[in-house]
Amino acid sequence: MKNFDFLIIGAGPAGLMSAIFASRAGLRTAVFEQTPAPGKKLLTSGGTHCNLTNTLSKELFVESFGRNGRFIFPALNLIDSKGVREFFSKLSVPTVSDDGVHVFPKSQKASDVLNSLLSECEKNNVSLFLNGKAQNIIISNGIVQGVETGHGIYHSSKILVASGGLSYPSLGASGDGYNFAKFAGHKIVGPSPALVELYAAEKWTGELAGLSLKNLKISVPYTKIPPKTGDFLFTHLGISGPVVLDISGEISSMLLRQKNVPISLNFTHKLTRDLWLANFAEWRKKNGTKKVKNLVSTYLPLSLSIVICRMASAEDTDVSHLSAPARDKIISHILACPLTIVGTAGFEKAMLTQGGVDLKEVNPNTLESRKIKGLFFAGEVLDIQGPCGGFNMQWAFSSGALAGKSAAEIHASFQEK
Ligand SMILES: Cc1cc2nc3c(=O)[nH]c(=O)nc-3n(C[C@H](O)[C@H](O)[C@H](O)COP(=O)(O)OP(=O)(O)OC[C@H]3O[C@@H](n4cnc5c(N)ncnc54)[C@H](O)[C@@H]3O)c2cc1C
Repeated sequence: MKNFDFLIIGAGPAGLMSAIFASRAGLRTAVFEQTPAPGKKLLTSGGTHCNLTNTLSKELFVESFGRNGRFIFPALNLIDSKGVREFFSKLSVPTVSDDGVHVFPKSQKASDVLNSLLSECEKNNVSLFLNGKAQNIIISNGIVQGVETGHGIYHSSKILVASGGLSYPSLGASGDGYNFAKFAGHKIVGPSPALVELYAAEKWTGELAGLSLKNLKISVPYTKIPPKTGDFLFTHLGISGPVVLDISGEISSMLLRQKNVPISLNFTHKLTRDLWLANFAEWRKKNGTKKVKNLVSTYLPLSLSIVICRMASAEDTDVSHLSAPARDKIISHILACPLTIVGTAGFEKAMLTQGGVDLKEVNPNTLESRKIKGLFFAGEVLDIQGPCGGFNMQWAFSSGALAGKSAAEIHASFQEK
């Protein structure tokens, strides 16, 4: 049979959740997955433990999605973090939050999350076509008609594009969703890599590769990007760690328009310039013969202290011989160390795609296209991104559920007529 009530492109968390919501409502549903196995990204998520959501309130959750955050409200109202935890618990996958924030399956196995979704699809007679790459969507008179695959054309008046973005092609990302959307007349924002390591022009970061710091504050001067504070890591080619990943999407989309993005690192944001001046005055009085780098290293790792003192040409200077300009330079590099971001580790290693189908052209209450009837979008293919920590998986689940419910409502309204 090649006629279905609902066709879904992509068997990731968004597509599978949508299939469950639609099939439970009685829709004959099919899911096309281009790879030989469903949910590859879900299986590797959270280091194979799957950080499927978090315990933040709905308001804080929405805020974390930045300027587009309000778009996700209707989907969260259908199924929020609590709802997702209940959903999986009913599928015999209880969840835990050991740190009070991040939520994982109690078994710590992403495979349990995926298997429960697949069993529920099977129970509701969802047809899953593996190695079933969707090649084109068929549209006629402003209404979707079907999906063309290597195995022929499948017909339906309701289609969900849940094919993800461009990040991690090794786990199935194809970017095809953008082509389907463009074909339907949609605008695509970006896209660029997000939740990704950033590369710096300065070579000194490589000397510190592997050094991690807590509570580092990153600012992007002369932009509206709010400063972010959190755990940080130096890498061979630049910087990474949760705080960097969280700001990486905005920086990577700036890199689409400009060659580099200057940023500033505050290694001790709780210590003001005045406190540092007082430290230096005290050291001069009491520890005149001690090297500046060793004194600064009472606050910072020695390797970082050495690099910062070298920037002020004071790597081997005693504190008693430190000039005022050199002291000021050291303090300014501790509180606002300039770094020039020139690139990212790219889509190959990005956990997310920044950008996607323009939200203005999609109805947030149904996730249906405002341009083509019966065409829905859910998950990463849309221009909405959350930080690290279960935000994006929750969005995939909530948006998939909403698209499935909306398709079922359209179906029911046609049945009534
Ligand atoms: C390594 C890694 C770890 C992550 N860890 C977490 C985490 O712990 N918590 C969290 O919240 N988020 C995490 N994320 C992000 C999260 O995995 C994604 O946000 C989420 O998977 C997006 O879901 P989706 O269903 O929209 O897309 P995807 O999961 O990308 O699924 C899309 C599916 O569509 C298929 N497809 C593509 N094109 C076609 C086509 N033409 N025809 C048919 N099928 C097609 C793909 O093969 C894929 O299976 C992680 C991402 C990565 C890469």
